[in-house]
Amino acid sequence: MNHPPRANGYRDAWCGELTGERAGSKARVAGWVHRRRDHGGLIFIDLRDRSGIVQLVFHPDSSGDAFAKAERLRSEHVVSASGEVVRREEGNVNPNLPTGEIELSVADLELLAESETPPFPLDDDTVEVDELMRLRYRALDLRRQPMQDVMVLRHRIIKAMRYVLDELDFLEIETPIMTRSTPEGARDFLVPSRMQPGSWYALPQSPQLFKQLLMIGGYERYFQIARCFRDEDLRGFRQPEFTQLDMELSFVDEEDVIGVSEKVMAAVFEAADFDVPPAPWPRLPYDEAMLRFGSDKPDLRYGMELHDVGPLLAGSEFKVFENVLANNGTIRAFNAGSRELSRSELDGLNEIVQRHGAKAVAPIYAEGDGWAGNLAKFFSDEQIRAVNAELEASDGDLLLFVADRRHIAPVALGALRIELAERFGLIPADRHELVWIVDFPLFERDPEAGRWTAIHHPFTAPRGSFEDPETLRSRGYDLALDGVEIGGGSIRIHTAEVQQEVFKTLGMSEEEGQARFGFLLDALRYGAPPHGGIAFGIDRIVAIAAARESIRDVIAFPKTASGADPLTGAPAPVDAQQLRELGVRSLVEPQA
Ligand code: ASP
Repeated sequence: MNHPPRANGYRDAWCGELTGERAGSKARVAGWVHRRRDHGGLIFIDLRDRSGIVQLVFHPDSSGDAFAKAERLRSEHVVSASGEVVRREEGNVNPNLPTGEIELSVADLELLAESETPPFPLDDDTVEVDELMRLRYRALDLRRQPMQDVMVLRHRIIKAMRYVLDELDFLEIETPIMTRSTPEGARDFLVPSRMQPGSWYALPQSPQLFKQLLMIGGYERYFQIARCFRDEDLRGFRQPEFTQLDMELSFVDEEDVIGVSEKVMAAVFEAADFDVPPAPWPRLPYDEAMLRFGSDKPDLRYGMELHDVGPLLAGSEFKVFENVLANNGTIRAFNAGSRELSRSELDGLNEIVQRHGAKAVAPIYAEGDGWAGNLAKFFSDEQIRAVNAELEASDGDLLLFVADRRHIAPVALGALRIELAERFGLIPADRHELVWIVDFPLFERDPEAGRWTAIHHPFTAPRGSFEDPETLRSRGYDLALDGVEIGGGSIRIHTAEVQQEVFKTLGMSEEEGQARFGFLLDALRYGAPPHGGIAFGIDRIVAIAAARESIRDVIAFPKTASGADPLTGAPAPVDAQQLRELGVRSLVEPQA
């Protein structure tokens, strides 16, 4: 804490800051009973506030009723206590506690509030507590040290962002939460309008269009710690509402945005005491990332890079591979090193690639300069030698192959690479790697609908010609940290013509484009500066810096994987009357 609290009836000092220097002085502290011990006729209370813990000691022979009151104290009761700060006896010093040299010999104790027995212990961080319980009693969970540490870290990170951006002349500007759809590839959350029955607001998937309007409005450099809302399937690193550092700049190209981003993020990592290589961070074209890692957010902390071995294996007797190649598929492989996996473990690898749409993985062990096992006989010695050379295989190495469609094989094998790196313990805990991914395609074809969809969002500036949408590249850039996408953005389209061309390619008629995004198209017609920006996922950054598995652990009040809030019970049914006022009728009975 930077300042002592203002002395009032409750306290004049922070618990955690009563050190040896204060011995001999009087102090009043307030907080929660962290732990209580009765010992040799004395009562010891560890008292906790946000700053830390101090030991209170109560003597039975002290004057007043403090001792009698202390006898009734239980965990998490709230008290205010005053007395003299005294040095502990030699043997009782606790070197693990900043206040371990002293204790407060209490002369006056006031019980401010009682606590029922908490549903889980708050004084032992090693106890695994069921997450649903933690979320249900979040106020209690937030008292625990790991949560407090992470909230402090989160604050520091956001503060570093604000500080650097202010230094760089950015303005913090808020944008609406109740708005129209801002597409980022997820479903919208909708809010019905009472005043215009039948009409709906959408919660923003990002402030994308507003920040572009701010550039057209002449604000040059904008940022916002912005809440975004996306209705999509949730995993550990996703929440229906999450927080981004959102930025936009005018009269810039990719170098400017990446340069500013590196300044901000370097400051963030420093504030978080999180060691990353110094900027500038490496850049990898999307195609190369997919080829070498099977991912557009590759983890560069370990090897096992993928190789395209199709050309080396073409023309073999192995029907499975030949069919794939004949159908314009591809064969990718990596060397998992010298690993002894049982038959069932090898079979189990199939499940991993199947989750990503591939049919199977073919495991082959290198033996001498050949291959062990049944598959070897389908390939010529020359082919085997060429693959071994490409994969730098030595005797006993496990080589893993996936032959499949071009958009499936790399991704499936990339997922296997990650899984095996975890399983074999190849991920260094104390090293971190950042990489920019650039040169994304602008569009990808939705495999089911056959339509083009935008890889980033439809406001990303293209490079190339619309004649062949497949060859168009985007002026986007993503930043990945240890295999997690932590940021992404682009240079934007700044003319109405190009914007309409993109809408058209996405299958939107001119009328539809005008109806949904007319406000943007109109603004683009009145002198839009070239502009670009980026957004960083604050929850993810905090989670990685704090080494937490899930962003739920770095958000004060998160939702579960099913989008529920066990604390408040949201989402919840509403009164029929409320719905009537909104002009809304429910087609389903709410689930119990
Ligand atoms: N709006 C984008 C997103 O939320 C970021 C950007 O393009 O600046 O992912």
